[in-house]
Amino acid sequence: MAEAKTNLLGMPRAELESFFAGVGEKPYRADQVMRWIYRAKVTDIDAMTNISRSLRGHLKEIAEVRVPVFGAGRRSSDGVVKWLAHTEQGQAVETVLIPDASVGWEEANPGGTTNRRNTLCISSQVGCSLDCSFCATGKQGFNGNLTRAEIVGQVWQASRELAEGGDERGITNVVFMGMGEPLLNFQPVLDATDVLMDDLAFGISKRRVTISTAGVVPRIRDLSSHTDVSLAVSLHAPRDELRNILVPLNRRYPLAELLDACRHYLRGLGDRRSITMEYTLIEGVNDSVADALDLARLLAGLRAKVNLIPFNPFPEDRNGYRRPDPKRIADFQSSLLNAGVATMLRTTRGDEIGAACGQLTGTVHDRTRRRMRYLAGEAAMLQTRTVP
Ligand code: SAH
Repeated sequence: MAEAKTNLLGMPRAELESFFAGVGEKPYRADQVMRWIYRAKVTDIDAMTNISRSLRGHLKEIAEVRVPVFGAGRRSSDGVVKWLAHTEQGQAVETVLIPDASVGWEEANPGGTTNRRNTLCISSQVGCSLDCSFCATGKQGFNGNLTRAEIVGQVWQASRELAEGGDERGITNVVFMGMGEPLLNFQPVLDATDVLMDDLAFGISKRRVTISTAGVVPRIRDLSSHTDVSLAVSLHAPRDELRNILVPLNRRYPLAELLDACRHYLRGLGDRRSITMEYTLIEGVNDSVADALDLARLLAGLRAKVNLIPFNPFPEDRNGYRRPDPKRIADFQSSLLNAGVATMLRTTRGDEIGAACGQLTGTVHDRTRRRMRYLAGEAAMLQTRTVP
């Protein structure tokens, strides 16, 4: 059987340079190839015409640019687009484009286009192993990690679709808030952030690349020695006994340890940046004014802002969770604001096509034995704590 060719998509520039060094070529070849792949969106090595014919011939034998196949996008009336990205293992994850409030935006901002964002919400795993009680993705089971090419490929495909639709701004922000827990697919996610921020690729600033985690404490600590991209933490509860139920990972990494890891990460961010705390509001579960006050106490002295997400229902929910009414949401928010905690309310977008937070399911063939093996391995991994 022919040996698998190296996929150049998603390879960080430094690694691409060593790749070329390994075949006796100069480092600038990496620049050339990256421009072709990410700027010109060219995947055919033969079409990379500033590279000599003989080098192209050799390159084609050992390498290729393999992009995940995107299904047709489904567009919601509020401008959100959802794609299925097919993996090489025959499964599919979801990728969601959230353009800044496109309905009515032009009217409200005449002539202004510069600050308008195109946020892409990408997946990092096929399904998820964490099984948070209020999230549809966890109910699908888990079937493995995406490769860095499959992660970067989501951004590559979405930005190509934007360009084809005449939107020249491209992807301005990327959030790892799709399917999966990014910190449990650590190295591929790191490599992907490297490419997203590289000027020869997507050139997105570190402030506009956000890794969202349910709280894998040792990996948050590791992360700070590699990068200073923006961090979001899925908090959802101000007390351990409640968080243990909503985010089972909390039983391994309780709030005190999680907040310590956040403080550690903040040290690498500089004074002006903060961590986003995501808080999904579920009626009668975590949305009382007393919960808000507990949350404010918990976050006192931490450079954090709270992002409130009204619960999005999904068919597999067995807990009967509901979204609180607008008055309860407003009371929760104002309690936090009055206590001095910066708090934003995330508008629900894309829910009519199942593209809102926590609604992403894709096509995950959960093989239970695989899931069991994974969980055993994960438990072992989670026991190896990193010393700060
Ligand atoms: N595993 C990572 C990445 C997923 S991010 C993490 O937990 O952060 C997706 C965000 O949407 C998380 O904050 C998640 O808690 C939230 N979410 C999940 N299900 C939801 C639902 N049904 N309604 C609203 N928000 C939800």
